[in-house]
Amino acid sequence: MRDEWGRTIEYMRISITDRCNLRCKYCMPDGVEAVPRWDILSLEEILAAAYCAAGLGVRFLKVTGGEPLVRRDCCQLVAALKAVPGIEKVTLTTNGVLLGQYLEDLQRAGIDAINVSLDTLDAGQYAAITGRDCLDQVKASIRRAVEAGIGVKINAVSLDLGEDNWRELVEIGREHPVDVRFIEMMPIGYGRKFPCVDHRSLLARMKACYPAMEPDGRRHGYGPAVYYRIPGFKGSVGFISAIHGKFCDSCNRVRLTSQGYLKTCLCYEDGVDLRAILREGEERPKEPVHYRWPEGRSPSDGDLQRRLRAAMMQAIGKKPRAHCFERPQDITEAANMIAIGG
Ligand code: SAM
Ligand code: SF4
Repeated sequence: MRDEWGRTIEYMRISITDRCNLRCKYCMPDGVEAVPRWDILSLEEILAAAYCAAGLGVRFLKVTGGEPLVRRDCCQLVAALKAVPGIEKVTLTTNGVLLGQYLEDLQRAGIDAINVSLDTLDAGQYAAITGRDCLDQVKASIRRAVEAGIGVKINAVSLDLGEDNWRELVEIGREHPVDVRFIEMMPIGYGRKFPCVDHRSLLARMKACYPAMEPDGRRHGYGPAVYYRIPGFKGSVGFISAIHGKFCDSCNRVRLTSQGYLKTCLCYEDGVDLRAILREGEERPKEPVHYRWPEGRSPSDGDLQRRLRAAMMQAIGKKPRAHCFERPQDITEAANMIAIGG
C-alpha cells in the first residue's frame, strides 16, 4: 500500500526477540533488562502480522532482533514466513555468533540472504564493542555462509576507530562477493551517547585510498544503501547514511517490534499496538511464561485479519514524512534498538 506521501510500503522488519548474546555498547550494554517472555510475540502472532502485511503489499521481510538466532524457533519462523502468500524474500540480520550452528537449518528454511553485523576485524576492538570475545566464530560463520552460496552482506556501524578499521572491512570485498555496508550511528537508545561519523567525510577518505572507486548503480537489495564499486573487487561498499544522507523520500518500510508494536518510523513512537488486537480480551498470567497461542485458531483467521488490516492501514497511512534525527529534541522514540531491531 501507499502512505499519504505516496511512498509504497513493501518491506517489513520483524524483531523476533529483545534478547541477545552480545552486549554492543551502543545497543544493549550490560544492565539492560530483558522484557518478560509473555510480552514477546509468539510464532503464530508474528505469522498473523506477516499475513496481514503481505495482504497490504509487503513483499520483503527482514528477521531481526535482539539476536534472532537466540530464539529457538527462529528457523521454523523463517520457513513459515517464506510460505506466506505474497512474501517474495525473507532475509535475516544477525551478529553471526550462532550463524555457523544454524546455517544449514536456515538454508533448509529457505533464507534468501543474510546480513552479518560486524563493526571491526580487530579482536580487541571487537571485544570492547560487543563485550564478548567471539570474533573468530563470527568470521568463520561468514566464511561458511559465503561458501554455502548464500548472499552475505556485512553491516558495520561507523565508529571512529581509525583508517585501518574501515579499510580492513572494505578489503573483505576484494576476494569475496560480500558487500560491506557502513551505517551512520543513529541517536536511538544508547546510540545517543555516541558520535555519528559523517559518511560524506568517510567516503572522501575511502576515495583517497581507492581512487578508482565509483558509484555502483546495480540493485543490491531493497533498502536505502548507496553503493560504490572498486574495480577488481568482488563485493561493493555501501553507505546507509540516515543522518547525513536523509533518504526518507524513498522509505519503503515499517517495523514490527518484538512486543508486537508496528512502528512506522524509527524516530517516532507513531504506530499501532498489534499485540493488543492479537490478544484482545486475554489476561496476563501471574507466572513468567511464554504466551500460548489459542489452540485451533489460525494466524490467517478472517476476523483477526480484518481487524489487523484496519489497524495497519491506518498506521501506515499516517507514516511520518521524515525522521528528525537532526533535531534530537523532537525524537519521540524512547525504546532501545534492541527492542526495535535496527
Ligand atoms: N543482533 C542482530 C545484529 O546485530 O545484526 C540484529 C539486531 S541489531 C539491533 C540490527 C542492526 O542495528 C545492527 O547492525 C546494529 O549494529 C544496528 N544498530 C544498533 N544500534 C544502532 C544505532 N544506534 N544506530 C545505527 N545502527 C544501530
Ligand atoms: Fe545484540 Fe545486535 Fe544489539 Fe549487538 S547490535 S547488542 S548483536 S542486537
